[in-house]
Amino acid sequence: MTFSALWESLLPVGRDGGTGGYRRFSWTPADAACRSWFFDAAAERGLRATSDRNGNLWAWWDAPDGAAVTEPDPGSAAGEGAPAGLLGARAIVAGSHLDSVPDGGAYDGPLGVVSAFAAIDLLRERGCRPARPVAVAVFTEEEGARFGVACLGSRLLAGLIDPAAARALTDRDGVTLADAMTAAGHDPAAIGPDQALLASIAAYVELHVEQGRALAGLGAAVGLAVGIWPHGRWRLAFTGRADHAGTTRLADRHDPMLPAAAAVLAARDAAAGHEALATVSKLIPEPGGVNGISSRVTAWLDARAPDEPRLHALVGQVLAVARAAATAHGVDLDTRQESVTAAVDFDAPLRDRLARTLAARGIDAPVLATGAGHDAGVLAARVPAAMLFVRNPTGVSHSPAENAELADCHAGVAALAAALEDLACR
Ligand SMILES: [Zn+2]
Repeated sequence: MTFSALWESLLPVGRDGGTGGYRRFSWTPADAACRSWFFDAAAERGLRATSDRNGNLWAWWDAPDGAAVTEPDPGSAAGEGAPAGLLGARAIVAGSHLDSVPDGGAYDGPLGVVSAFAAIDLLRERGCRPARPVAVAVFTEEEGARFGVACLGSRLLAGLIDPAAARALTDRDGVTLADAMTAAGHDPAAIGPDQALLASIAAYVELHVEQGRALAGLGAAVGLAVGIWPHGRWRLAFTGRADHAGTTRLADRHDPMLPAAAAVLAARDAAAGHEALATVSKLIPEPGGVNGISSRVTAWLDARAPDEPRLHALVGQVLAVARAAATAHGVDLDTRQESVTAAVDFDAPLRDRLARTLAARGIDAPVLATGAGHDAGVLAARVPAAMLFVRNPTGVSHSPAENAELADCHAGVAALAAALEDLACR
């Protein structure tokens, strides 16, 4: 099995020696190393590798005779719900992302990319000949860990974010996306929607490590996604007054940390009340001295819910508590919605087709919903998309403890290969 060799070759890239976690942030040297790993993996397989205008990577297994596809497109939504320009869609794309959250795990993203290459290897071993192009894709800045907008590469490709706004995004050091791309040798002027590329895709299948324990409970190595909860990120900037921690009377303080703390607790309460999820994990106090009151605290709220009314009710509740607490402490509050992703229902005909294909091979793949966003969820607005999950025994994700058993990774490759064979091979 080629999976292990390919997996091992990617493992050291961007791993922090101290924490064992990954710091593969977009347009950094670690990201460049991931990109060169991708180009090497494609070259070893004779796949035609390219970077698109948005910095997403593609490795193409072209149909041998470039034959036009005459069979119906998989997933009838290509003809029903999707824009008319997609009717000529052709390629079957599998992939995921290689970037990470700060000190992320090895599997979130890379498992889908490595499995896509391994699935192509498996299909070639079986002598499958593609009747349509098959591609392995890597989407840039999926985690939003550097520039704050999740799925940035797929959003740009799909035309779901304004390119000028994207160019102006900044990282925590104030470096813009435009400058970071330029420094990495990529032209930021070219970013934006790519209708021709989208129109060449018949379906996108993303394999991903499960970020929960549902499959472990069901005793299944792989699952299929039904949809993704609506979710988003909000930035809350509390501005107070810097002062001395040892001399300023409590009554005289304008401490922005106090309403920020109220917001953190409100997120937990609101999530529980709406049977949803909400988290404040990133908090930046400025100047942040131990013996001083901060002048400003910026907090980020991540919220996810089974439906949009509950998502907006939850966020409204948190912001109302934050505003009341800010007023009580004489602190200004500026809130900004950084991103919201609507609920995603993956293409039902495509999912049903994959379920039948897997069942025919004796692969039991339960159908799950998830609260985690993915490029497949973004691309689902433009092309039929599906997701395969691989069992995560502990459910832990976005942590170095994230794990999947090798046998389950192999089961994932087998399932992805079955899907690609059904969708793309003669
Ligand atoms: Zn991921």
